[in-house]
Amino acid sequence: MISNQQALRNIAIVAHVDHGKTTLVDALLGQSGIFRDNEAVPTCVMDSNDLERERGITILSKNTAVIYNDTRINIVDTPGHADFGGEVERVLGMVDGCLLIVDANEGPMPQTRFVLKKALEQGLRPIVFVNKIDRARVEPETAVDKVLDLFLELGADDDQCDFPYLFGSGLGGFAKPDMQTESENMKPLFDAIIRHVPPPIGDQTKPLQLQITSLDYSDFLGRIIIGRVHNGVIRSGQRASLIKESGKLKQGRISKLMGFEGLQRIDIEEAYAGNIVAVSGFDDVNIGETIACPDEPKALPLIKVDEPTLQMT
Ligand code: GDP
Repeated sequence: MISNQQALRNIAIVAHVDHGKTTLVDALLGQSGIFRDNEAVPTCVMDSNDLERERGITILSKNTAVIYNDTRINIVDTPGHADFGGEVERVLGMVDGCLLIVDANEGPMPQTRFVLKKALEQGLRPIVFVNKIDRARVEPETAVDKVLDLFLELGADDDQCDFPYLFGSGLGGFAKPDMQTESENMKPLFDAIIRHVPPPIGDQTKPLQLQITSLDYSDFLGRIIIGRVHNGVIRSGQRASLIKESGKLKQGRISKLMGFEGLQRIDIEEAYAGNIVAVSGFDDVNIGETIACPDEPKALPLIKVDEPTLQMT
């Protein structure tokens, strides 16, 4: 696992349904690792994508990681619907930047507005990707203007309004900084992520603090916790304390520690502040609670969430 935070980026991907989130992440996965000097394309990643394609279903995993020039980019999916309001905020609280995908023809739509509002409130500076420009009769520049109007309407600050934007096609697997340029790959988008998303902050020398952002379950491992290591280092097998919302402590052990690679979870020995990991070993857990060092357990502030609203936006 990477201990150098400079070589790590955490980004959320947000979009209106059908604007091409899944296809774009697929393209990034397909090109993960290929820009590293003298290294072969990681075939296992390609294979898993091809398999999905063959079956005609693309599944966007909630957590994905791609590699670009020795930098690990953790990509976290964000639900677009207002029913998941609380989850959107939690996911956005785990990342340092976000990629907003907008269909070149449709421009911003209701869910674009909903997720963008949350991202701006969290102080994130989105990168805008105007997608599907391979289609005929697209007006990509108009889409950028409409996105800027939306930023202004949502009260974005000057920095946020000065958003970087790219044009491209997830399906075609390319991104470019302007419509005049030719591009055959996603390199411009990878570069924009590295340049505009700040590396995670967090002190690796402090006692461990991991905030639980989402929960999963497997028959084999039981409850699986997903969250970001805010401070310290987490190690497979170590003792740890779960700090409940009430302040009560529960002692336990990190029975399994996993990182993300492509669409898979892989076993890892340790992970440093700034990383997003999956952990098993604690059962009675709730979102927002903290896993901490048993000698110095200190809770992270609970993530404030609006409770889900049930109307469509
Ligand atoms: P999601 O709902 O945001 O995850 O969207 P998907 O990635 O599933 O894409 C929705 C539809 O748009 C699918 O039929 C895709 O094949 C299509 N699509 C996605 N990206 C592109 C693109 O760059 N160009 C074109 N022409 N179609 C695309």
